[in-house]
Amino acid sequence: MALLKQDINYLFQKEKYANIIFTELNKHRDLNKALSTVLKRIQEFTDVEATAIRLLHDSDYPYFVFSGFPRAFIKRENSIVAIDKSGNKLLSPNKKDPRLKCMCGKIIAGKFDSLLSFFTQSGSFWSNSTTELLAAATEKELQSESRNYCNYCGYESVALIPIISDDSCLGLLQLNDHRKNIFSLESIEFLENIGKQIGYSVQNDLEFSKLRDASEKIKILNAKLKTLADKDHLTGLLNRRSFMKILKFEKNRSNRTGKPFTLIMSDIDYFKKINDTYGHDVGDKILIEVSKELKKSIRRSDTISRWGGDEFLVLLPETNQTGGADLADKLLNIFRRKVFKYSNKKINITLSFGVFEYEKNKSIKEFLKSVDDLLLKAKETGRDRIVKIEN
Ligand code: GH3
Ligand code: MG
Repeated sequence: MALLKQDINYLFQKEKYANIIFTELNKHRDLNKALSTVLKRIQEFTDVEATAIRLLHDSDYPYFVFSGFPRAFIKRENSIVAIDKSGNKLLSPNKKDPRLKCMCGKIIAGKFDSLLSFFTQSGSFWSNSTTELLAAATEKELQSESRNYCNYCGYESVALIPIISDDSCLGLLQLNDHRKNIFSLESIEFLENIGKQIGYSVQNDLEFSKLRDASEKIKILNAKLKTLADKDHLTGLLNRRSFMKILKFEKNRSNRTGKPFTLIMSDIDYFKKINDTYGHDVGDKILIEVSKELKKSIRRSDTISRWGGDEFLVLLPETNQTGGADLADKLLNIFRRKVFKYSNKKINITLSFGVFEYEKNKSIKEFLKSVDDLLLKAKETGRDRIVKIEN
């Protein structure tokens, strides 16, 4: 049978629009943009008045994109989940999925009887006159808790095409027109193919979003791990490893620029006795509070670390021995005055300090040994004091 010229033209247009829509779906990274453009192309091809796509979101299928529908229609018809009087979502008989209303819900839930003329084998609904359909079809045949709002709004031609991927329905494509006889079975079959193409794109987008979310989570976890690896777990101060990096950096800078910097090494006096008398937990709390107090007392540019058990190191950039000793003196007095209170017990502690200004071209090891020696001297000469090199 020879094809009529108009059939050839239709086939040509169908092929052209199928290619355009396929390209649009693959071109845009943003699903909203892709589907909005696809709706426009479908409108161009079918000359239909209004188009929309519903997509699964939060157990419902709200409109994701739409064109040609009044906003009031979209607002009213947006949700298709059945709710009880208190506004709670109702479940379908399988007790898992929500109960979906209206013909849209029926198409998405795949509940159709392909023997009825208004359904296709692939599960779409279409009608060229909703008024005639409602007059002819029984409520049982419609079986859709129908709100008949499309017909109420005067839409005579209505098509609902499922958006399918891997046999599951992700939403639907809706086409409405106030005129009768907009659709043919051929155009519905064309739209069903587009529905499948859209399904692949939506599925890809879902998988891409999951991957993106997972990679975001990994990034956050890695950042947290890195921070954790740099910090002492009890006090949150920098640990020895990360402090060493800063110390090396400061040493190089000082050697280059000739600017001074100073270390204060400090250790709690008779801390073992605190643990023995009040328990290890109280000891921990004191370590935390001492750390907070030290943090409060230093400048933003200074760096503080928990160097060992009850030992702390403070690095003071662009500070000489005198500046370091001044800060150590302030700290010495803060802790002399401070009273730690735990379960009705008042505890006093003291700290000993060694203060040493970096000497050009000395190694880190020598520098640390010098300040450690001064702290040891503070301990040996009675504790609760500062020892520095006398100028
Ligand atoms: P000194 O005046 O000579 O410093 O006497 P000290 O008792 O403080 O002795 P030292 O500094 O050598 O010992 C520190 C003690 O700190 C040893 C250990 O029991 C305790 N310690 C180390 N880490 C922790 C911790 O994380 N929590 C608690 N509660 N105690 C700790
Ligand atoms: Mg100690």
